[in-house]
Parts: sequence; C-alpha cells; structure tokens
Amino acid sequence: MDDRPKILIVDDERLNLNVLSDLLRQDYKVILAKNGNQALERVNTETPPDLILLDVVMPEMDGYEVLRRLKDNDRTKDIPVIIITALDSMQDEAKGLERGAVDYIRKPFHPPIVKARLKNHLTISRQRKLLEGLANLDGLTEMPNRRSFELALEREWRRCMRSGELLSLAMMDVDCFKQYNDNYGHAAGDDVLKKVAHVLLSEARRPGDLSARYGGEEFVLLLPETDASGGRYIAEKIRVMIADLGIVHEFSSAGQVLTASLGGVTFFPSTGSKPQDLAIAADSMLYEAKRRGRNQVLWTDLTV
Ligand code: GH3
Ligand code: MG
Ligand code: MG
Repeated sequence: MDDRPKILIVDDERLNLNVLSDLLRQDYKVILAKNGNQALERVNTETPPDLILLDVVMPEMDGYEVLRRLKDNDRTKDIPVIIITALDSMQDEAKGLERGAVDYIRKPFHPPIVKARLKNHLTISRQRKLLEGLANLDGLTEMPNRRSFELALEREWRRCMRSGELLSLAMMDVDCFKQYNDNYGHAAGDDVLKKVAHVLLSEARRPGDLSARYGGEEFVLLLPETDASGGRYIAEKIRVMIADLGIVHEFSSAGQVLTASLGGVTFFPSTGSKPQDLAIAADSMLYEAKRRGRNQVLWTDLTV
C-alpha cells in the first residue's frame, strides 16, 4: 500500500502541473486537477489529500473561491492549502493567507523551497491531528473524553434548540467500584472500565449519539432526537449488558456480579436553560438510582 502523503496540485496550465508533479512525485503520491471543480471533486472522496497546492488565476472558479469552499466544509477545512501563484502583489498574498491558506509561494518558484515548505506544513498538520486526537480521547478506554462530550453537548444543544427537537442524556456510574479496586486490584479495575466502555460504544450507534468517559468510573450517553421511552430503553439495555458481562464482584452491595446505575433525562433545549442543566438533572437521577439500591435505571421526562 502506498502510504506516502497525498498531495493535490491544482493548476489550469498543463506545463505547471507537469513541473510540480515531477518535483514531488518521488516523495509523495501526487494527484492533479486542472480547474476548481475538479479540485473539489478530488477532495471530496474517501481519501482526501493531505495537502493542496493551489493556483489562483484559473478560468471559471479561481483559487480564492476554491479555498473558500474548502474552508466552508467541515470535512475539508483542516487540509492545509499552499497557494502557488504568479500574482505577486502583497494584497494578493494577504488575501490568500486571510482566507486560510497556510502559505503563499510565488512563481517562478525555487524547487527546493517548494519542497521544504511543503514538508514543514505536512509535519505541522500531522502533529496537530495527533494532538487533537490526544485531547479528545480518553487514554484508557480510547473512547471520547469529557472534553469531547462537553463540546458535543453544546453543539447538539444548539442544534436541537434550532430544530425544536428533544435531547436525552444519561449518566452512568459503576456500582461499588472502590470495593472492586480494593479487592481485585487497580489493573483488574482498568480492564473492567474498558469492557464497560465497549458496551457503551456498541449501543450509542445512531448518528449524533455519543458515549464518553466522564471521569473515573462515570460515563455519559448523549442521545439527540431520542424521546424518554427510547432513552430509558437504551439505558436499560446497557444496564443488562453490563451485568451480563458476568464480572464477578463478591464485594458489591448490589449483586454477585459487577453492575452499574444510570440516571437519565429528556429535555427540550431552550433559551431559558443551559446544557449544564441537563447534566445536573441526569446526575440527580443517577444519585437517586444509587440511593434506591443501585443496578437500576431512573429516568425523568421533562418534555411533558
Ligand atoms: P457507588 O456504587 O456509590 O458508585 O460506589 P463506588 O465505590 O463505585 O464509588 P466511589 O466514588 O466511592 O469510588 C469510585 C472508585 O473508582 C474509586 C477509584 O479507585 C476508582 N477509579 C476511578 N478511576 C479509576 C481508574 O481509572 N481505574 C481504576 N482501576 N479505578 C478507578
Ligand atoms: Mg463515581
Ligand atoms: Mg461508582
């Protein structure tokens, strides 16, 4: 498999395409586009390019417009774009950079400089992706972390408020987990958390659904456009699946095997309330489920 970085070169002049692809072909997988529409087609595929070299002056759609459309699309907005053009005014350079290009190279170009800048931008881009991944994923379970959840909650809150849809949220906490750790060891506890995470990931499956590790042995489940009976159904299924893992827990007050409690809430997001209110409401349901003996689901429907 060719795992070299993929570079898209966009230029309406055949000669320029040839010169640049000869320069880069050895180190990169090079793909070409001879106009703006073709460029956007090449980008919106399963395997988009890692970097784009973009000419500005082209008939029909110029480079600035291609850049604007790339930046408007969530799927393509993070692909670094280097403008490479015969336009040499500072205004043109500023315009390209202001619209989100990472760099600006003038023609005629000096080949080693093109190569070096391209390499630098690929490195920066790769490191950024890596850091983003680290910042959004929980290290132990490799599921989304609390930060991802909070971002998703804000986003879904606003989206559901606009569309008048309801939003469900469940909080889950493993029962008597301190006893588990104290008796079976922290490493065994870590294994349990991974198994529990796996159950959640397997159940939050619809687009927009999100399960995340909230911290410690607490997890959350965000279910947009899911009503209370749907939310309660999923929460109950998760509760049963966790008990069915059959993880022996002789020191639990809630049964012979490891269990979890869940509290959930269904809500119409509105301007008079905050996303945090949803988390607080779910948490108080969870608290009540614990108080009533653990290994159970309690749900409150605030839409009625
Ligand atoms: P309850 O049923 O009321 O939830 O009781 P609990 O014992 O589960 O709750 P408590 O909050 O007293 O204890 C949580 C325990 O979870 C304490 C801590 O040792 C353990 N824990 C938190 N994070 C981790 C982790 O990453 N790995 C492991 N192995 N244990 C963890
Ligand atoms: Mg806890
Ligand atoms: Mg607990």
